[in-house]
Amino acid sequence: RRQALMIYKDKPSQTRDGHKVTLLANVGNLSEISHVTDVGAQGIGLFRTEFLLMNAKALPDEHQQYKLYCDALHSLQGEVLTIRTFDIGADKEIPFLPQNNEDNPALGIRGIRYSLAHPETFITQVKAALRAANHGQVRLMFPMVSQVEELDAAFLLIERAKSELNEQEKGFGALSYGIVVETPAAVLNLPSMLPLLDFVSIGTNDLTQYTLAADRTNPHLAKQYPPLSPAVIQLIALTISHCKHTHVSVSLCGELGSDPQVLPLLVGLGLDELSINPANLLDVKVALIEGNYTHFVNHAQHIALLTRITDIREAINAFSLDCD
Ligand code: PEP
Ligand code: MG
Repeated sequence: RRQALMIYKDKPSQTRDGHKVTLLANVGNLSEISHVTDVGAQGIGLFRTEFLLMNAKALPDEHQQYKLYCDALHSLQGEVLTIRTFDIGADKEIPFLPQNNEDNPALGIRGIRYSLAHPETFITQVKAALRAANHGQVRLMFPMVSQVEELDAAFLLIERAKSELNEQEKGFGALSYGIVVETPAAVLNLPSMLPLLDFVSIGTNDLTQYTLAADRTNPHLAKQYPPLSPAVIQLIALTISHCKHTHVSVSLCGELGSDPQVLPLLVGLGLDELSINPANLLDVKVALIEGNYTHFVNHAQHIALLTRITDIREAINAFSLDCD
């Protein structure tokens, strides 16, 4: 099947009626970087940099990170690299980093909260990203941001990173800045945060967990508390609407985007960019290429009116059967 899908690799990423959607890749380890170009992704929409720490003995220093981001840019051949700053905390325990024992790690010091509590780690990563931006298109994305104060604090540290680079006479380029929208508070606070941002990416894995108060790692909850539920769909729609209103580009990087059956809903809701697991990218692209944008929009409008998870699931199945 993989072989058969390869004919789609270089086809334009657009619906039958000419609506373009950018398809990027999620990368969670080094070996996945080469798959990104193999499947014709238009860049990396989520580079989960924690993988640099998971099997390491120490924090990679600025130079090591800079080299790695440059290698990734090199293999992307001019396409965009979206570096997500370390999403440390929650279930990701890093032995060589200071971490507190927390009763509720998913609600604790994770993502941007960890970065702001440990500015040196953050500044090192920002400096590496700024230097890599001299060699290609680099976007920097912060996980778990939920309110504007966190952005104010992050941008102060970024200024510090830039002045350190200037003092050290190290060249750097311009970054674009964004957040992963993965808490309901982030969605509701977008009007205060969007003026500071170039892009946002919806992280449906955590957005689902935090909206439905359902641990994403608990298999007993997965079926009754899926992302395809009315509350999460409304939050996705609201995020898109806030972003379009202020002309900030919006993407989606949660697992939901890797399901070809869900593509018509996501594009119909107004997403023009998705970041997908490389293994699923061509399946999603087929769903895009074989569909019509006008049908996607009608489908999304229909789903937005549904109030039961089973009805949403049925509508999604029925739409994909219609297309066979
Ligand atoms: C998400 O939360 O949807 C996401 C993309 O990030 P992660 O799965 O790495 O938490
Ligand atoms: Mg997340």
